[in-house]
Amino acid sequence: MKKGKDQTYSRIIGKYTSNKKGPLLFVTGGVHGNEPSGVIALQKVFEELDKTRPEINGTIVGVVGNKKALNVDQRYIDEDLNRTWTIENVESDKKDTQEKNEMFEIIDVLEDFPEEEFTKRYFLDCHTTSAATVPFISVQEVNDNDPWAHKFPTYIIRGFSDIVSGCIDHYMSRTGLTGFVFEAGQHTDPRSVENHEGLIWLALKEACGLDLEKISCFPECIDKFVEKNAPDQKTFEIIHRHGLENNDEFKMEPGFENFQKIEKGQLLAHQNGKEVRSEWDAHIFMPLYQSQGNDGFFVVEQVKV
Ligand SMILES: [Zn+2]
Repeated sequence: MKKGKDQTYSRIIGKYTSNKKGPLLFVTGGVHGNEPSGVIALQKVFEELDKTRPEINGTIVGVVGNKKALNVDQRYIDEDLNRTWTIENVESDKKDTQEKNEMFEIIDVLEDFPEEEFTKRYFLDCHTTSAATVPFISVQEVNDNDPWAHKFPTYIIRGFSDIVSGCIDHYMSRTGLTGFVFEAGQHTDPRSVENHEGLIWLALKEACGLDLEKISCFPECIDKFVEKNAPDQKTFEIIHRHGLENNDEFKMEPGFENFQKIEKGQLLAHQNGKEVRSEWDAHIFMPLYQSQGNDGFFVVEQVKV
C-alpha cells in the first residue's frame, strides 16, 4: 500500500459499500501525476474501511487520475489532464494523447456508477500545490456545489475554477455531480495527506452518513485536518487577476503566502522594471514564484456567506 518507486497504480484505489441505498462519493487523486497525496489518503481510507467495516449509505469509490504520470512522478505525460475535459474533447472521442486516454478511462469508471442507481452523486477532486499553502476548497458555483462546499471547515475560494477550462471538476459538474476541488497543501508536505484524509472522512459523514466514531482512527484522522492544519472557514472571491504577457519580466516580492492580507499601496512585485503596488485592501492568492505562468497573482476578497 505504501508509495514506492516500484509501485504501479491501478485505476481504482478502492470501492466500499454496505449495500444500502444512498449516494455515490466519487473521489479522484493524482489527476496531476506529481501530486500523490490524494491517492495515499485514499489508500489509507480504504484500508481503514476494510478493517472496521462501518455502515454507510451508498458507495465510495476512489479513483487514480493520471495513472501513467503518477507512476513516473511527473505532472503529466503529453498534456495537463486537468485541461482536457472540454466538451469538444469529450465529444470527439479522440485518444491522441496519453491524457485523453486517461480521461476516457476515468469516464468509463464513472459510467459504471450511473445516476439512476444513487440518490445523489458527489465528487471530490484532490490536489496539492507547488508552493506552501493553507488548505482550501476551490468551488465552481454551479449546481449546489457552493452550499455543499460550505459543510467543510476550511477556506473556500469561488471563481478560481472558472478562470481555466477543461478541468475535471467542470466535467463532473456538468454531468450533474455535486462537488469541488480540494487543495490540501504543498505537494510533498505530509500534512497534505492528513488534510486529504480528514476531508474524505468528513465527506463520507456528510454524504453517506458515516458515524465517524465507528472508525478506529477517530478522532486523530479528523483532528489533524480540522484542528491542526486548517484555518476556520472563510469564503473568498476573486476580484482581480494580474495577468502577464509572455515577454514580461515579473518578480514577486518575497514572502507572500496564499490568503495573506495586503494593503493599498503595498509593494507586491516588479514588472518590466516598474513597481506593482496594491490597489486593494484585500488578500493575495497564488503569487507567482515559479519562472513560468501567465498569472502574476490574484487578489481575493473575503465575502459574507
Ligand atoms: Zn493539481
